[in-house]
Amino acid sequence: MTHKILKSFIFGTIFISFAGTLSAKEVNLYSYRQPFLINQFLNQFTKQTGIKVNVVYAKKGMLERIKAEGRNTPADAVLTVDISRLSALANADLLQPVSSPILHKNIPPQFRHPDGLWFGLTLRARVVYAHKNRVQDDEIMTYSDLTKPRFKGKICTRSGKHAYNLSLLAAFVDEKGEKAAEDWVRGLKSNLARRPKGNDRAQVKAIKEGLCDVSLGNTYYLGKMETNDKSPEQKEWANSVRLLFPKLGGRGTHVNISGAAMTKYAKNKLNAKKLLEFLSSSVAQKMYAEQNFEYPVKPGVAWSARVKSWGTFLPSDVNLATIAKHRLKATKIMDIVNFDG
Ligand code: FE
Repeated sequence: MTHKILKSFIFGTIFISFAGTLSAKEVNLYSYRQPFLINQFLNQFTKQTGIKVNVVYAKKGMLERIKAEGRNTPADAVLTVDISRLSALANADLLQPVSSPILHKNIPPQFRHPDGLWFGLTLRARVVYAHKNRVQDDEIMTYSDLTKPRFKGKICTRSGKHAYNLSLLAAFVDEKGEKAAEDWVRGLKSNLARRPKGNDRAQVKAIKEGLCDVSLGNTYYLGKMETNDKSPEQKEWANSVRLLFPKLGGRGTHVNISGAAMTKYAKNKLNAKKLLEFLSSSVAQKMYAEQNFEYPVKPGVAWSARVKSWGTFLPSDVNLATIAKHRLKATKIMDIVNFDG
């Protein structure tokens, strides 16, 4: 394994303590999610089961690391965001199927892999951030409405090559076909206020500053901005917009997941399965979703008051594994259209 990969990891507990331990009372987790987002419910898991969770926080390079470690990987389970990352792990043959009536009961089929290779735990919708006064609710009912002449020079977005936009486009390909998806990207590009740059929050700043009227963004960033005491100017960005939840053709709004999976060479299989099951339970679902302003994947678990205040919507019920299959086509379309250029 390269030095670079090692450097991209921050050790939650002393890594050496994993080596060769087959203790019945622990589970080793590689997490793309930051410790402050997950510690609370992992502690709850340990309290309930007596199983200790050793977390290695991975900002990037999780797949490369697990691949390099091969059979000797200490990782029993992974926690990450976006269907593209979960499918990449599955496609690289680094995961193993988990069969669990509890996971089947708690997680709707569209948000888990058909063979149990990964499981969605929280939902985030990719929606439209619209200026409170400059855009009317009924002007954007579908993602296709963004290509109307009315929005010429009014749209801001991050790079078309980012996983979030590629997943949205892959969903578009699945619903309407490649040709229609390409036309949509062309229309979107011709309405851009500026070349794609910055993250989802930077687009909301641009709306506040009058550079554009609408942007594409994931729902939870609104909560991160609304509650940002470290950078209070973000509260003002948030205050200039509201969320609109467009439909994708005959489907609901495009949603993505954060999720978990068991690694192919997990040593603590039973404990890893128990952890996944715990994460799908009502108690963990509520804590997990609230921490990051997301939606619980388990039906019937209440949304937080803040998330509820943004409005309700119908999420698309297309299986994310199906959407992930169009990922390459989506990348190709972004290149053909030269979306970022
Ligand atoms: Fe994000």
